[in-house]
Amino acid sequence: MMSPPSGHQQLIEYLKALRLTSMRESFMEVAERAAQESMGYDQYLFELVRHEWETRQNRRIARLLRESGLPYEKTLDTFDLSRLPASVLQAVTLMKQGFFLEKAENVLAFGNPGTGKTHLLCAVAQHLVRQGHRLWFTTCSLLVQHLLRAKRDLALGAYLKKLHTFEAIVIDDIGYVQHNREEMEVLFTLLADRYERRSVMITSNLPFSKWETIFKDPMTTAAAIDRVVHHSVILELNLPSYRMEEAHKEKQTEQPQEEKSTSQKGND
Ligand code: ADP
Ligand code: MG
Repeated sequence: MMSPPSGHQQLIEYLKALRLTSMRESFMEVAERAAQESMGYDQYLFELVRHEWETRQNRRIARLLRESGLPYEKTLDTFDLSRLPASVLQAVTLMKQGFFLEKAENVLAFGNPGTGKTHLLCAVAQHLVRQGHRLWFTTCSLLVQHLLRAKRDLALGAYLKKLHTFEAIVIDDIGYVQHNREEMEVLFTLLADRYERRSVMITSNLPFSKWETIFKDPMTTAAAIDRVVHHSVILELNLPSYRMEEAHKEKQTEQPQEEKSTSQKGND
């Protein structure tokens, strides 16, 4: 890189003070290009600002992705949408626009194990994070542990407030692990706290009719379902298990070779 003419030193100081890092690093190079391409003054400024904005935006998205705890590989690109029922596909198209976050609506994905609930919600969530939204992924059991710890530290309120900074929390596998009363209570507190204010995106193998095993007594169960469902999109993934189908396909393509070699089986 060229060293700046002395008159530029002050400009560099200003850009430093204004924290316009990308502009500071690129203005000379862009100026050279501007001269070569006979850019107008406004075009030159536009290029500099665009560069600054893009660098910041990329950095912000990278930070949001890290913070989201989402599994990076579960994207819409790696998800076979053609497996979805038309109604779910339509809902996914809408969800991608992110309006449900503004309206604090919830997303509930039901279905048997292996039907793609986790992958689908993570993929939609990642899509939204890449648009600049703040979301957080957690399993239900981990969330419950966090909430309990906060409660024992007499900091549940503060923790819920912190979670408010996320437009949506993806709560994976609600009802998969049996919770005791105290655990179920903090989970209920979270759902009640977010009701009509912030979204939750939930996956569950259990239909509502079995949620009493999560929330123990009928009253709390009804209250929890009521809050979660009131403003919500429900995705019913009544599909065959993706894992089973893939395993089945693999077997079929493997069969002709079976006589030759059986040594490569059992890899997951
Ligand atoms: P669930 O949460 O319903 O148990 P997962 O989302 O964990 O199911 O899906 C099980 C496995 O199958 C994962 O590895 C996931 O990436 C994959 N999978 C499920 N559905 C699809 C799909 N439609 N396209 C691509 N991969 C899928
Ligand atoms: Mg899952």
